[in-house]
Amino acid sequence: MDWARQVHIKSPAELDAMREAGRINAMALEAVKELLQPGVTTADLDAAAEEVLRKHNAVSPFKGYPGPYPYPATITVSINDELVHGIPSKKRKLKAGDIVSVDCGTLFEGFVGDSAFSAGVGKISPKARKLLEVTEGALWAGIDKMQAGKRTGDVSAAIQQYVESHGYHVTREYTGHGVGRQMHEGPQVPNYGTPGRGLLLRPGMTIALEPMVLIGTPKTRVLADRWTVVSADGSLTAHFEHSVAVTEGEPLILTVL
Ligand code: MG
Ligand code: MG
Repeated sequence: MDWARQVHIKSPAELDAMREAGRINAMALEAVKELLQPGVTTADLDAAAEEVLRKHNAVSPFKGYPGPYPYPATITVSINDELVHGIPSKKRKLKAGDIVSVDCGTLFEGFVGDSAFSAGVGKISPKARKLLEVTEGALWAGIDKMQAGKRTGDVSAAIQQYVESHGYHVTREYTGHGVGRQMHEGPQVPNYGTPGRGLLLRPGMTIALEPMVLIGTPKTRVLADRWTVVSADGSLTAHFEHSVAVTEGEPLILTVL
């Protein structure tokens, strides 16, 4: 493998550019979070994120993303059993008790930020609350391993072990990934793996870690819209993501304010 291809940023200026794309992405997700209440449509959430990107002269790497057909929106909004890739709609209203996973990407001055969160609408069940906590905890467990000298398998295994220690499942079908000038670059970083295996982490690597967690089964299926991925058994799911840089020291989270 040509490892140089796996180092996504090659200068402090490029790191700053990634950080700025990530900051704008965080602002877009904050705008969405502020709207999360019953009666709001998922198209309203999309419009709010799009507005933030437009204000900052950024564009969406989601819009037009190749798939079964070009992805039609700025964010994905996936509710309850929907794990990822839910398409915003004017007809889809949030309800109290829903858990909503929102994923957003930002392309700014040649670099991409990619992050996601899940959150409750109104009062949610203790079961849903625990799922959110475990999924976010799994992201932090993975970030903790984003240290030069460790390997992608250390990151993957940390996420898997955290999730499975709580009795939940990680998807095998969708993974974290390198992020840089493109939203999806190498290496793939699955949410399962073996410590000590995989690619050596080096300063300058930027990776989007994204635990996708299911309560009942690791299996998923795709809805008739050909984008939305749901749990095969209809059980609740959650998704958290940050784009993170490996540095000489501590991991640097790019997709924060
Ligand atoms: Mg994402
Ligand atoms: Mg991603």
